[in-house]
Amino acid sequence: MSGSDAIGAGKGRRWPVMLLIALAGTMIVAALAGLKLISEKGDDYASPGLHTEVWQSYQLRSEIQRLLDTAHAVEEGQTGAAALILRLGVMRNTLDPFRHSRVFDYLPQPRPEVHRTIAHLDSLSAGWMQRLDWHDQAGARRVAADMLAELPRQLRPAHELIVVSNIAVAAQLDWERQSLQRTFHWLTVTLVLLACGCLILALRILSSQRRSRHLAEELQALNSSLERRVRSRTRLLHEREALLRTILDSTPSDVTLISADQRRIFYISEDLLTQTDTRRAEEFHLETLFENGDDYRQLVARLSRGETVHQLEVRLAPRAPYWALLSARPLHIHAQSAWLIWSLDITRRKAMEHKLHQLASTDALTGLHNRRALWRAAVKRLRRDRNAPLSVLLIDIDHFKRINDEYGHPVGDQALCALARQLDELMQEDALLGRIGGEEFAVVLSGMSPEAVALMAERLRAAVADTPLVVNDAVTLSMTLSIGLTQRHENDSLKSLMMRADRALYRAKAEGRNRCCHLPAVALAPPALDEA
Ligand code: GH3
Ligand code: MG
Ligand code: MG
Repeated sequence: MSGSDAIGAGKGRRWPVMLLIALAGTMIVAALAGLKLISEKGDDYASPGLHTEVWQSYQLRSEIQRLLDTAHAVEEGQTGAAALILRLGVMRNTLDPFRHSRVFDYLPQPRPEVHRTIAHLDSLSAGWMQRLDWHDQAGARRVAADMLAELPRQLRPAHELIVVSNIAVAAQLDWERQSLQRTFHWLTVTLVLLACGCLILALRILSSQRRSRHLAEELQALNSSLERRVRSRTRLLHEREALLRTILDSTPSDVTLISADQRRIFYISEDLLTQTDTRRAEEFHLETLFENGDDYRQLVARLSRGETVHQLEVRLAPRAPYWALLSARPLHIHAQSAWLIWSLDITRRKAMEHKLHQLASTDALTGLHNRRALWRAAVKRLRRDRNAPLSVLLIDIDHFKRINDEYGHPVGDQALCALARQLDELMQEDALLGRIGGEEFAVVLSGMSPEAVALMAERLRAAVADTPLVVNDAVTLSMTLSIGLTQRHENDSLKSLMMRADRALYRAKAEGRNRCCHLPAVALAPPALDEA
C-alpha cells in the first residue's frame, strides 16, 4: 500500500467516528433546544398575565354597568364630575388591553364586530373624557345624559365580547397546545432518528474495530508464518551456500563467478585472489588474472556474444605465470547477466607434454634431434628460408661395427655421444643437427654458400679424423667420417634433397670413406613440398 492509499484508508476509517460525534452533538443540541422550549413554555404558563382576556372582558362589561350607574347618580345630583371622570378612566383602562391583544386572531372564524365594539367604546369614552372637567358639574351632567343614552346599547356587545374572548382564548390555547405537541413530535422524531444514527454508527464502529482486530491478528499470523518461512529459507540458503562453497573450495579448478559488467564478484576462489595479489574479492579485476591481454579480450568478447568457451589454454597470473585450461559460460544470477569461469592449473600436464614431446623428438642416447624431429624441423626451415641457400650434410661413421665388435656396445654408445657433442660444438648455432640412424647424423644449414658448406664439412671430417676419441679414460678410438653434402634447388623437396645427400654419402663410401662428397643442386621436375 502506498503512502497516499494509507492516508486515504485512515480517512476512510475516521469518517464514521466523525459522523457519530456530529450526530451526538446534534442530539445534544436538539435535546437542549427541547429543554429550552419546555422551560419557556413553562414560564409562559406560569405568567399571571396570560390569557386574561376573558376576565378583562368580564371586567369591561362590569365597568360599563358601573359607569352607567355613576351616570345615573350624576344626573340625579348624588355625585359629581370627579366620580364620573374616575369611573370613565377605569373603564378606559379596562378597555386598553383589548386594543393590543392578538387573541382574536385565533378565532376559527373572523368576528369583526368585536373590533368594532372595542373601537366604538374607545372612541365614545375618549370623547366623553375630553368633554369632562373636574369642576364643570353641568358639563358632567350633560355627558352623563349622553352616557345613559348610549351605554345601555353597549351592554349587549360587551357581553358578546365576553363570549368571543372565551372562544378566542380557548382557540389560542388549543393552537398553542397543538404547536407544542407538533414541536415535541418533531423533536422526538429527530431525537429518535439521531439515536438510530448513533446506534448504527456505533455498531458500525464496533464491527469495523472487530474487523480491524481480526485483520490485525491475521496479519500478525501471516507475518509470523512469513518470518518462519524466511528464516527456514535463509537457513536452507546458508546451508546450500556453505555446501556450494565447500564444493567449490575443494574442487581442483579455480572458480570465478562475476557479473557481466564486472562490477560484482559473486564468488572467487582464494587461490585466484592470492595469484593476483588481491586482498578482497570486491577488489578483484578479471583482466589482472591474464598474462596476455589478448586472451582476456578474446574471452570477454566471446562471453559477451553469449558463447560458451571450452578448454582454452591460457597463461594466468602474470606474477607467477602458469598454464591453465580455462572454460567459461554466460548465465543469469538473480536476473543479472553473469559469467562463470573456471580454470584448471595444467602446469604438470604441460610439463609432461613437453617431456613427451622432448622424448618423441630427441634421440635418447645423444640428446640430439631424432630422425622425425629433424625431418619436421627441416621442413619448417625449408618453408621459412624459401629464398635462402640451404644445404644438407649426411654423416656416417666409417666401419663403426668394428668399434662395437672390438670394444663392446657401451663403448660404441659413448663414442656416438662423444661424436654428437663434437658435431654440436663445431656447428654454427642455427644449424639443425640430428641423429637419423644408428651411426648416421644429418645437418641442415641455411644461409651458407655451397663453398662455405663444403669447407665446413671438410673441416669437420678432418677434425674427427685427427682427434682420437678417449672413452672412459681408458679406450682411445680413431674414427673417420664419410660425409655427403648437397644444396637445395628451387624445386627441391626435403625428400629429394635428402636422397641426393644420401647419394653423395654413398659415393663417399664407395670412393674409399673418410672423405666428403658434394653433389651440387640440379634442376628437377617441379615437386611437391608436401612430399615432405
Ligand atoms: P660402413 O663404413 O660401411 O658404414 O660400415 P659400418 O660398420 O659403419 O656400417 P654397418 O651398417 O655395417 O654397421 C653399422 C653398425 O652400427 C651396426 C651396429 O652394430 C652399429 N650401431 C647401430 N646403432 C648403434 C647404437 O646405437 N649403438 C652402438 N654401440 N652401435 C650401433
Ligand atoms: Mg651406416
Ligand atoms: Mg657406418
